[in-house]
Amino acid sequence: MSQLIDRFGRVVTKLRLSVTDQCNMRCIYCMPSQGVEWIASEERLTFDEMKRIVNIMTMLGVRKIRITGGEPLLRPGVEQLISSISKLNGVDSVSMTTNGYFLYQYAKKLYDAGLRGINVSLDSLNPGKFHKMTRRKYFERVVEGIEEAEKTNISPIKINVVVIKGYNDDEIEDLAKLSRYKPYKIRFIEFMPLDGGNRWKKNLVVTKSEILEKVSKVAEIEHTSNDPSDPARIYKFKDGSGEIGIIASVSEPFCADCNRIRLTADGKIMTCLFALDEHDLKSYLRGDSTDEDIMAFLIRTIKTKWAGHSINNPHFVKPKRNMSAIGG
Ligand code: SAM
Ligand code: SF4
Repeated sequence: MSQLIDRFGRVVTKLRLSVTDQCNMRCIYCMPSQGVEWIASEERLTFDEMKRIVNIMTMLGVRKIRITGGEPLLRPGVEQLISSISKLNGVDSVSMTTNGYFLYQYAKKLYDAGLRGINVSLDSLNPGKFHKMTRRKYFERVVEGIEEAEKTNISPIKINVVVIKGYNDDEIEDLAKLSRYKPYKIRFIEFMPLDGGNRWKKNLVVTKSEILEKVSKVAEIEHTSNDPSDPARIYKFKDGSGEIGIIASVSEPFCADCNRIRLTADGKIMTCLFALDEHDLKSYLRGDSTDEDIMAFLIRTIKTKWAGHSINNPHFVKPKRNMSAIGG
């Protein structure tokens, strides 16, 4: 079987599939407060196009699909997409990253469609701070959505927390404690330079070691060896209750083990979150290309994947689009 292997021997097995760039929140670390231009609806891939490309990718060894955006639950009928791709031969799991606003009404539909893992963004346990970070007063709705997901048996439920100095770093302990009394795994994410408002500065990043120091105050923790291609380094509380993970893209990049590829809502392949080149898959999907032509395109494209991002290099250049438009 042909595989998607890059020049450094990394084999792609995971796809981040963005179904929309639109969002009903305006998180300060992701989007500007206003003036966002959306992808025109005719430029967005249809569900049939997405299903076709997922099927082609499974023939190249892709096994795990994560649906993201923008806010994926803003795309009407997303549960039908999940249902169809989760049945494809070769797809091992379909999961989603969501801001949770629509989860209250969607959780059961998603589970029934075959969704088996969900990451919900919740940066604070304090409604006022949540508002400050997301620019929306949606805290209660999101919490209700997470609780609804819990009732459906969607598992695992992970809570994504982007930690920003001076905003929510004083809540690291409380958020870590949440993993001890609720069936949620907490994922602390270092703030990356992908925000639409040019707010990112290195001194706003709370590093993995700073996060660990605070989490250790809750109770004794130990690192558990995990799949190196998982972006999170996993720690468990030694008394057996609770797990946290830290995604240290800035302080400890994990590019050497990256096995992901991204597809934007308008059909561009990105070989890295920070890639400066976007590869136009949509023109193949909408032209008269055969599945074999598209496989050849993907095999060529993956050869352009670089060894790693250069956030920590003084000559770092931000990608053209911000996180919500790429698909986080
Ligand atoms: N709207 C959904 C959500 O917020 O969960 C899915 C898309 S969002 C772009 C995916 C993830 O990226 C979220 O967990 C979000 O917190 C994270 N994210 C966005 N901007 C980020 C940044 N600049 N640095 C680190 N993580 C970021
Ligand atoms: Fe929207 Fe998610 Fe970005 Fe927040 S992180 S603005 S919820 S896409």
